[in-house]
Amino acid sequence: MSFKRRPIIAFDGPAGAGKSTVARRVAVELGYRYLDTGAMYRALALEALRTGVDLRDEQDVLALLKTMEIDVSGDPRVPTRVFLGGEEVTGLLRTPEVNASVSLVAEFLSVRNEMVERQREIVREGGVVIDGRDVGTVVVPGAEFKFFLTASLTARALRRQRDLARIGYQMDLAALVEDISRRDNLDSTRVHAPLRKAADAVLIDTSNQDVEAVVAEVMAHCREHVR
Ligand code: C5P
Repeated sequence: MSFKRRPIIAFDGPAGAGKSTVARRVAVELGYRYLDTGAMYRALALEALRTGVDLRDEQDVLALLKTMEIDVSGDPRVPTRVFLGGEEVTGLLRTPEVNASVSLVAEFLSVRNEMVERQREIVREGGVVIDGRDVGTVVVPGAEFKFFLTASLTARALRRQRDLARIGYQMDLAALVEDISRRDNLDSTRVHAPLRKAADAVLIDTSNQDVEAVVAEVMAHCREHVR
């Protein structure tokens, strides 16, 4: 009898391409769990800012991470909730301050190794949709389905503007374009696990497609194989 694990569906792509919205919807359709790996890096950046740890010091950032118990909710029906040692920090993770710092802490190899280990543990049993920057290339290269979502810079900045407005930040579009391109640049050019499409990932440009259409495209790829 085979005890093969249930499938893992991986989404990568730049900021604002629609990964988490689409990934969550696909997880709901399939009855899978959802893991937002970006939330884990954001939690680390938040804690570094709160404790005054030097964001450019790899050893200090790693030491901080080792003390952190990061609990990320896996229920795809609601936006990811994040708890640090029992304290809910969900509402503090998408601020301009965290946006500006997260790619710095995500650059360090030792930090990434620790995160990847935790992420693999969470998805080990399968039946999960996971999103991030390196999930199809590094975290779960053996994922059964891989998608790389992208969109034009303007489309992505507009989405971020709407998301931020929902949590009370009115941001200028030009400032968001600058923030997103700076983060894309850092994420794509870093030495360790840079953002890139896995060779076997399906590329989807979401610029001119609504969520429904993208979810339908993803489901069409998965349906035949997922039981
Ligand atoms: O996905 P999200 O925009 O929340 O991710 C925040 C940041 O965390 C990214 O810009 C990137 O620097 C980092 N990240 C990463 N690897 C992942 C997920 C996120 O380096 N798997």
